[in-house]
Amino acid sequence: MKSKLNKKLPDLKGKEAEVIAGHEKCVMNTYFRSPIVLVKGKGSYVWDIYGDRYLDFWPGWAVNSLGHCHPRLVAAVKKQVSTLIHVSNYLYHPLQGELAQLLVEASFPGKVFFCNSGAEAVEGAIKLARKYARTIIKRDAYEIITAFNSFHGRTFGALSATGQSKYQQDFQPLVPGFKYVPFNDLRALEKAVSKKTCAVLLEPIQGEGGVNVASPEYLGGVRQVCSRNNLLLILDEVQTGLGRTGKMFAYQHYGITPDVITVAKGLGGGVPIGATIARNEVAEALKPGTHASTFGGNPLACAAGIAVLETIKQQKVLNNVNQQSRYLFSGLASLHSKFPFIKEIRGMGLLVGVELEFSGKKIVEQCQKNKLLINCTADKVLRMAPSLLVTSQEIDQAVDILEDVFTKQNF
Ligand SMILES: *Cc1c(COP(=O)(O)O)cnc(C)c1O
Repeated sequence: MKSKLNKKLPDLKGKEAEVIAGHEKCVMNTYFRSPIVLVKGKGSYVWDIYGDRYLDFWPGWAVNSLGHCHPRLVAAVKKQVSTLIHVSNYLYHPLQGELAQLLVEASFPGKVFFCNSGAEAVEGAIKLARKYARTIIKRDAYEIITAFNSFHGRTFGALSATGQSKYQQDFQPLVPGFKYVPFNDLRALEKAVSKKTCAVLLEPIQGEGGVNVASPEYLGGVRQVCSRNNLLLILDEVQTGLGRTGKMFAYQHYGITPDVITVAKGLGGGVPIGATIARNEVAEALKPGTHASTFGGNPLACAAGIAVLETIKQQKVLNNVNQQSRYLFSGLASLHSKFPFIKEIRGMGLLVGVELEFSGKKIVEQCQKNKLLINCTADKVLRMAPSLLVTSQEIDQAVDILEDVFTKQNF
């Protein structure tokens, strides 16, 4: 397998140091990076410039929802790129409405604003919430309640919504009007509501904050608090949306309907696209000229989004997510019983966190040496979000590597 694929790789052998040096010379140093140069991906695997293969259980930060280079996505993008790449939002093209319809069918009756990233989808939701309060329910309310340990993105609105001071350090002053409350604490949220509140913004599962799953009582209760006080319930599904949790959207596990959701990561399967979806009456608040994004919903991004959504619908992808989720959780449970330093295993569908008693950084590095790519967040939580099409053989392989790495820990 290795030799056949290697023929297609660019000839960069021995050039890893050169590639990295060239990069560091001119790219701003904003990321913690690992010195691996990837050149190719297929399904659950990626290849580095030496032709070494890695099992990717954290593809593109939970972006490559169908794995790498899914044939249907590749075909759709290839076709679109040679037909029409971009047109302005002053004109129409056939795919934006088509993708919007697919998103609405998969969620609730409403309308979609298209953008390019998760942060931008959150910005859209924040602006929509303020505009809705002022122009539709005619109340001078602008405050949004969010949770500690949340993550909503790095632009100023999204950063201000993010309840983690480490990301806000030295960027003050932030956008005013955000109040943070402990996650999964309904009383705290109720107490934080004031006359100035217009919305509550939460992740159904805090991804970056450590894979913290909202309890059903909590999200159900939040929905009631919002309805009683005429507040919008905005759920940030940038990480949890599009099949990741075993349903199209995570909120669908809770028997509630939010007023607004934000999506991005998995939507384009790797092509940058984000969206803010709002209930019809709420969407009315944004009139022509009140919000925009130059690239938002362009033909190329929409072709990718349509290919991803149709694949999830037609290939029984959600069945695979649920089946492989059980398999992965049971594999991890067997590790839990063997290694006392594992504190908890949590998550939903194929978004999984393994909380350790110590920092997971070294574990991630050792997995990488053993050709498994995973992530660590909130210092002690190993995080995995494999392809929605992952197989049980691939899960076996990942669990074996983890077991091997855990066994070799010396305390
Ligand atoms: C990743 C993420 C974002 C930010 O998305 P970007 O595309 O990096 O701007 C926002 N919200 C959640 C829940 C995320 O996981």
